[in-house]
Amino acid sequence: MRRVTVLGATGSIGQNTLDLVRRRPDEFAITALTGGRNVSQLARDARELGANVAVTAFPDCYDDLKEALSGSPVEAAAGPDALVEAAQRPADLVMSAIVGAAGLAPGLAALHQGRTLALANKESLVTAGPLLMETARQTGATILPVDSEHSAVFQALVGEDINTVSRVIITASGGPFRDWPVNRLARATLEQALNHPNWAMGQRITIDSASMFNKALEVIETKEFFGIRPEQIEVLVHPESLVHALVGFNDGALMAHLGVPDMRHAIGYALNWPDRRALPVARLDLARIGSLRFEAPDETRFPALRLAREVMQTGGLAGAVFNAAKERALDAFMARQIGFMDMARVVEQVLGALQAESDLGRGEITLDNVARTDHLARMRAEESIAAIRYKE
Ligand code: NDP
Repeated sequence: MRRVTVLGATGSIGQNTLDLVRRRPDEFAITALTGGRNVSQLARDARELGANVAVTAFPDCYDDLKEALSGSPVEAAAGPDALVEAAQRPADLVMSAIVGAAGLAPGLAALHQGRTLALANKESLVTAGPLLMETARQTGATILPVDSEHSAVFQALVGEDINTVSRVIITASGGPFRDWPVNRLARATLEQALNHPNWAMGQRITIDSASMFNKALEVIETKEFFGIRPEQIEVLVHPESLVHALVGFNDGALMAHLGVPDMRHAIGYALNWPDRRALPVARLDLARIGSLRFEAPDETRFPALRLAREVMQTGGLAGAVFNAAKERALDAFMARQIGFMDMARVVEQVLGALQAESDLGRGEITLDNVARTDHLARMRAEESIAAIRYKE
């Protein structure tokens, strides 16, 4: 029996994880589930799956959670410290599927306990990659990638020597705006950005996919997780989303990972690792698909990719600035306060301003420094958003 804790259980990755857990009651048991504002879902799942504890991230949701769990043996808790405590409970695998920088502290806490961390929360690696990897090294914890591209690379590397890798290519669908000219992109609406052609995901990552900020985060994630150089990482637009990633070796071989766009593949691979087990995902029929398309990304229309390169070049706390400014800009776009292309403008301005104030590259990556930098970047992003709105 494998004991599993799911951080962010009420979200898209969390619910897909629970779907797989439900299908194998003889193999998986739930230790802790955490969520945010969707306490009814959290309580329902915690009761059904017999979790020891259910935690909402928000203290103002505690009473509702307690009420929803009344009469059940499931403990209720709330707040950031309770998330950390849940992540530390004995478990064979902790799924890190909180969205945003809020996922860092609980994920890190699980690594401090030497747990196996299935990492969907890419923001942790972007903001504090070296801290996560070093903690895992010191405690002997394992980190398994859950992002589909990184799971694909991880699988292509089984039995290979990382030193023989010459390049890693992660694919991007191009999202709903793949062919849009830049002047039309500036007027893209929230509804249009939420209309992803291939993947069903949480709202925030769906918009990040449309702007390619998601791919930008993934490029940085690739560097941090696999420890390869930025110039070895390429992005390839592939509208069908069937090839998730390719790994190029020193002999010229290119190993591709293909599969239908269903996150339960990457989640299931992590849940069952190091074994490979049957999963309830559709099989690819390549003869029916016929052809696959590939094209180079356009960094003028999708500046997030260029900004990711700058962040990797700077290093240190630049990732924390990039992520926080992006999260705040995304909030503003979702609140219809700024336009689609303004998101990259805000992030670029914040990176420039904070780099001018202090050498971000030299900043030591500790949890406190990341939190301070995150706060500062959100304040600067606020100013930048206000300036854009004022001009309009
Ligand atoms: P969702 O928005 O669907 O779910 C996010 C989860 O985090 C929910 O459980 C939510 O609770 C919880 N949450 C929200 N805010 C906070 C907070 N401040 N503190 C603690 N918990 C919070 O996101 P996804 O499942 O789409 O994505 C989760 C992570 O996985 C992200 O990092 C994303 O980049 C990554 N990922 C997602 C993929 C996908 O296909 N969805 C693919 C690859 C990576 P509630 O809903 O109850 O408020």
